Amino acid sequence: SKEELLEQLKSKINRLTWDQWFTSAKILDIQGDRVIIGMGNLFIKDFVAKKYGNLVSDTLSEILSKKVKVEFTFIPADQNKNKPAGKLIKERPLKLSDFNPEYTFENFVVGESNRVAYYSALEVANNPGKYNPLFIYGDVALGKTHLLHAIGNKVMETSPNLKVMYVTAEEFMNDMMRSLREEQMDDFRERYRKKVDILLIDDVQFLIGKDMAQGELFHTFNTLFNLGKQIIICSDRTPEELATFHPRLISRFEMGLVVNVNEPDKKTKLRIAKKMAEMSSLYISDDVVTYLVDNIDNNLRKLRGLILNLFFHSKVTGEPINVETVKKLYSSLKRHKKIAMENKESLAVLKKNLILESVLKEYNLTRDQLFSTTRKKEISEARQVLTFLLKNYGKMKVKEISSFVGKNHSTVSQAIKKIEKELTTGNLVLKRRIDDIRRVFEEAEKIH
Ligand code: ADP
Ligand code: MG
Repeated sequence: SKEELLEQLKSKINRLTWDQWFTSAKILDIQGDRVIIGMGNLFIKDFVAKKYGNLVSDTLSEILSKKVKVEFTFIPADQNKNKPAGKLIKERPLKLSDFNPEYTFENFVVGESNRVAYYSALEVANNPGKYNPLFIYGDVALGKTHLLHAIGNKVMETSPNLKVMYVTAEEFMNDMMRSLREEQMDDFRERYRKKVDILLIDDVQFLIGKDMAQGELFHTFNTLFNLGKQIIICSDRTPEELATFHPRLISRFEMGLVVNVNEPDKKTKLRIAKKMAEMSSLYISDDVVTYLVDNIDNNLRKLRGLILNLFFHSKVTGEPINVETVKKLYSSLKRHKKIAMENKESLAVLKKNLILESVLKEYNLTRDQLFSTTRKKEISEARQVLTFLLKNYGKMKVKEISSFVGKNHSTVSQAIKKIEKELTTGNLVLKRRIDDIRRVFEEAEKIH
């Protein structure tokens, strides 16, 4: 069984190493010659894959007397309890939303500027319904979305039976429009009003001027509120500034707790920059952190984007990150951005490369390995995922992808179909992996 296999693996690995790195490891699945191991910590996952991947593959191959390859994947704590995890994943009720595993309360740096918002969000996660609704407002890139995901992550961990739904106001509206078109409004209402315990609505200012969606939100709000379900709303305007919103909706927003997030002071920003680097397992010294905070736009989203680009850069070139490399990289990113803005084509090139780098990061491969002709499962999967992402997020045509990855047209379209099929048949390990990759390149893009 998987547990026995894990025990055998443990017995063959140095005690200290095991205790230090593998205590959260669980064997999730064995698929042919791939063994999938879940790790309870995102940073450890990357590190262990790099440092101990071969050792674990070799040891497992020896135990199973056949050549196997190990893959590590991140499993959030709530799915990591003692039961056999492979099964558990299938048994778990499907989550309504996926939360960014990096956007947790632990990874949120608290300072004067966001203390109230942080503790209100934490309180709501621990006692849903207590402050209802919670309305968080503040300028862009000050951590509102991070806090919403933190609530989602926390509730999934502490009360996995609660149904938590995250939507942006834009998604809410699109969903409504589609349901209207397809005459499925009953479904829509049931989805938002009956099947949700906690509703997180991001960027509600999007609904300015969208009367019908506001009306729908009002009714959703009332139904959930009357059932005692928690509602959390984020906006980059205060409730009063949403002046053109229907007054009945504004008064709903003001019924509960209204808190704001402000621009952090410099000390807090330095701590945030360090935390962001730590989240990418990137070591940067204090002078680099200071340089980043002093010289890169005030916007935290750009800071995060730049840190991810630094990570890619240090990984590809092996260069250490110092103030000089940061300066060089930042000005070249800005130059590329400028060229790209003037020319649609190069914007596509930037995107394509970010997607590629994010896939390499996730699978811990070099370019050469990825583009080799090897049929190794892990590498083929990485290649297939790359083609899938280029098609769906890079908006590339199969023909373009085919010349980018150096495979023929039919190989590429089969690869894309294969991934689509895996996703629609509920391969959650793969889905999570793809979501992780997507988040990385979407965030890295924000420097541009
Ligand atoms: P908003 O939704 O307010 O526009 P986000 O939540 O998207 O902002 O934050 C932008 C980036 O900055 C994210 O990567 C987020 O993790 C990071 N961030 C913002 N505030 C903090 C904080 N206090 N601690 C750690 N990271 C933060
Ligand atoms: Mg946001």
